Amino acid sequence: MSSPHPELFPDLVAGVERPALRFGERSLTYAELAAAAGSLAARLDGGRRVAVWATPTVETAVAVLAALLAGAPAVPLNPKVGGQELEHILTDSRPVAVLAAQEAELPGPLAEWTRIDVATEAPTSAPSSASAPAPSRPLPPEPDPDAPALVVYTSGTTGPPKGAVLPRRALAATLDALADAWQWTAEDVLVHGLPLFHVHGLILGLLGPLRRGGELRHLGRFSVEGVTRELAAGATMLFGVPTMYRRIAEALPADRALAKALAGARLLVSGSAALPVHDHDRITAATGCRVIERYGLTETLMNTSARADARPRAGTVGVPLRGVELRLVDGTGAPIAGPDEVGEIQVRGPHLFTGYLNRPDATAEAFTDDGFFRTGDMAAHDRDGYVRIVGRKATDLISSGGHEIGAGEIENTLLDHPGVREAAVTGEPDPDLGQRIVAWIVPYDPARPPGERELADHVATRLAPHKRPRAVRYVGELPRDDMGKVMKRSLGQA
Ligand code: ATP
Repeated sequence: MSSPHPELFPDLVAGVERPALRFGERSLTYAELAAAAGSLAARLDGGRRVAVWATPTVETAVAVLAALLAGAPAVPLNPKVGGQELEHILTDSRPVAVLAAQEAELPGPLAEWTRIDVATEAPTSAPSSASAPAPSRPLPPEPDPDAPALVVYTSGTTGPPKGAVLPRRALAATLDALADAWQWTAEDVLVHGLPLFHVHGLILGLLGPLRRGGELRHLGRFSVEGVTRELAAGATMLFGVPTMYRRIAEALPADRALAKALAGARLLVSGSAALPVHDHDRITAATGCRVIERYGLTETLMNTSARADARPRAGTVGVPLRGVELRLVDGTGAPIAGPDEVGEIQVRGPHLFTGYLNRPDATAEAFTDDGFFRTGDMAAHDRDGYVRIVGRKATDLISSGGHEIGAGEIENTLLDHPGVREAAVTGEPDPDLGQRIVAWIVPYDPARPPGERELADHVATRLAPHKRPRAVRYVGELPRDDMGKVMKRSLGQA
């Protein structure tokens, strides 16, 4: 096979005989993946978008790789999203075809679109049906580094989903910066159970190991047992979102096999939302391991991370990655000077998206005049430069009694209370205070939840009296999206 994209996946284009992927019982070497993706790529037109029905299967991997080889921008679709949202994504991105595993049942809105079934084996003879791969034709020449590789839709918590157009150079830049921070090599075997339609599972979790020449073992669906099994069988890295690490932290006291497996891992990485300090501490206490937190967005890919060669600190997301310019600015846009002062995170570098599909207005608004992306996340620098995220400007900053209060530190403090299993903090209008602090609590024991007064005192004595919740709402669970982020806008609307 010729080498159309040597800079993105060298071992794939070289077709090396090494394990590349395993999804459940099904595994592919780089050579097998190259053959399957190469023959599908030959049926795609460079520059024409294709949608990928992104189930957690080997077919999704083949489809995405085929699109990247062909230079056809891939639009991963969340198989759980149907109806209006799916229709919006389709009419906005107008893919020429939908790539899906043969057995996948596609929902109504997809019926009108051309479907191409994905085979995981390259054809050995002439195709006998419409679903079999056609004979290869030469792959197109290497696309420009600025050519779009993926269009990933934001989850829409801040409006209708927008398609972030990610160029090939952004994938390479972010994956290489992570390799630098995490000392990530071809020897690493990654395990995770993340979905393949977001940046975390798709770009970091699938394309990451393939760029390094390492291996991915995908769990299909996250389970503590699966993590234990794969780490015990030699996986070196685990990627997860905070809700997965909470499940691990809760299982640890009674599960010695899990503790042993985690203790043997080289790197545990958390992202997509803040990892509660309480969970980080529980994992460290039981295993001696620290969890590396990294921070990014769909539009920017990864911005910061703790480094493998430095000590991660719970409650921070580490330092800017190589090649990332990061600044904190105040409400006027001026950079803030001192440590511990809170400002909006803005970033610039080769890892950024090029814009939102069909949304020049939103793209223009997203960038400053000097080319920094406005993340909408608020943070402070610790004295040694570690970034401490306070929360999102829109939902996590509470203006109460003349103070600007971040929800995150109150949530972390509430989680330290032995009766609190999960916590989310929001602001509600208040005639005296402007906003009052409201705590949404999932108690460990719903029959005997910690009292309102007790929780208010717990926060007041550990943080400051004005940070105590003025109201506590007890709920059975918090509304969370696929990545475990609490959907704060839905709180109180049920
Ligand atoms: P939308 O932008 O439409 O709300 P979304 O929530 O899916 O969609 P993403 O790009 O997936 O957006 O998520 C990015 C956000 O996730 C960041 O802006 C930040 O608030 C949060 N985030 C990611 N990693 C971390 C982390 N390690 N700690 C705290 N927050 C994080």
